[in-house]
Amino acid sequence: HAERLNGLGTTIFAEMSALALATGSVNLGQGFPDRDGPDSLLEDAIAAIRAGANQYAPARGVPALRQAIVDHQKRFYDLSYDPDTQVLVTTGATEAIAAALLAFVEPGDEVIALEPYYDSYAADIAFAGGRRVPVTLRAPSYRLDLDELRAAVTPRTKVLLINSPHNPTGTVLDDEELRGIRDVALEHDLIVITDEVYEHLVYDGIHRPLASYDGMADRTVSISSAGKTFAVTGWKIGWVTGSPEVVTAVTTAKQFLTFTSGAPFQPAVANALALGNDYYDALRADLQSRRDLLSDGLADLGFEVHRPAGTYFVTTDIRPLGHTDGIEFCRMLPQRAGVVAIPHQVFYDNPEPGRPLVRWAFCKQPEVLQEALERLQKLR
Ligand code: PMP
Ligand code: GLN
Repeated sequence: HAERLNGLGTTIFAEMSALALATGSVNLGQGFPDRDGPDSLLEDAIAAIRAGANQYAPARGVPALRQAIVDHQKRFYDLSYDPDTQVLVTTGATEAIAAALLAFVEPGDEVIALEPYYDSYAADIAFAGGRRVPVTLRAPSYRLDLDELRAAVTPRTKVLLINSPHNPTGTVLDDEELRGIRDVALEHDLIVITDEVYEHLVYDGIHRPLASYDGMADRTVSISSAGKTFAVTGWKIGWVTGSPEVVTAVTTAKQFLTFTSGAPFQPAVANALALGNDYYDALRADLQSRRDLLSDGLADLGFEVHRPAGTYFVTTDIRPLGHTDGIEFCRMLPQRAGVVAIPHQVFYDNPEPGRPLVRWAFCKQPEVLQEALERLQKLR
């Protein structure tokens, strides 16, 4: 196979979900909810299929969804976009990230990414011929060190690839960090690709879109997705917003990756985006109580717990339990305790800071989290 596949192998999520199935483990590894999103959303997709929305959607997405994305950005962030020129519907955020990198990265260009990084970033940067330059979010706070960010910039830097709320640490970048990113982008004339798929999963602080900062409108590719907000990760409906020039560039790449995305899901997601604040509030409150349930339980078991401000992942340091290597720990855990988790290490270029860290997903029913915690008693 081609050199660009070197080091990619099978994703940790596929490996660990297969291990969960094979061992009958409680799967707190791959992040997907164990209850599907709102009934109205599911019914709307079924109705759309019955009504014949089964052929190619328009290239940039069905008009109702593009309008709903615009209305959502206005409602939550007071950002204004033109639905015809500034929105693109994609096959999940995953495709949006790939298309954005293909659109802006030339061979040899450097892409600065927050480390630990979501694993598809590394593959996409490699596909684009770029070079990944990590800036590490370090324990115990996992905040962005702006001096490290500035030091990572070189004349070859083309793109800052930001993710907030951040998977896997749960960091929600604050105003100072976002201003710092903005200043670096303006000073060095960089494109910023910002992955905000966990925008509605914030428990402490608030989510601020990078696109809302002065000077960022023309250089920011903003990405989100229906998967987390509406608990339908299998639908793979995502979107890009940005300036007409940015969105046209990403569209040019997207049209030759998938051409268009899931036609019957699009009108359903359009209606879901317009759900009242009660939906968004309940989603957050629900997940916050699960975060606390799992964080408290893991702390009681003796782990050093990092309670995340956002996302649906808790990070623990396993050293207080006498373990040192997260990969070994996660390979042993299904046999030993019947639980699956994800080692941070695979999300680092230099694995050292991630070695003792393990990620646990809490987007599961409370009784499932309880069951996992009970099983983990076996580690004592
Ligand atoms: N970015 C991050 C940070 C994620 O955690 C995920 C989750 N799977 C994605 C992108 C992919 O989103 P989608 O399922 O919409 O492709
Ligand atoms: N985003 C989810 C996670 O981080 C699922 C990722 C995947 O399966 N590719 O666990």
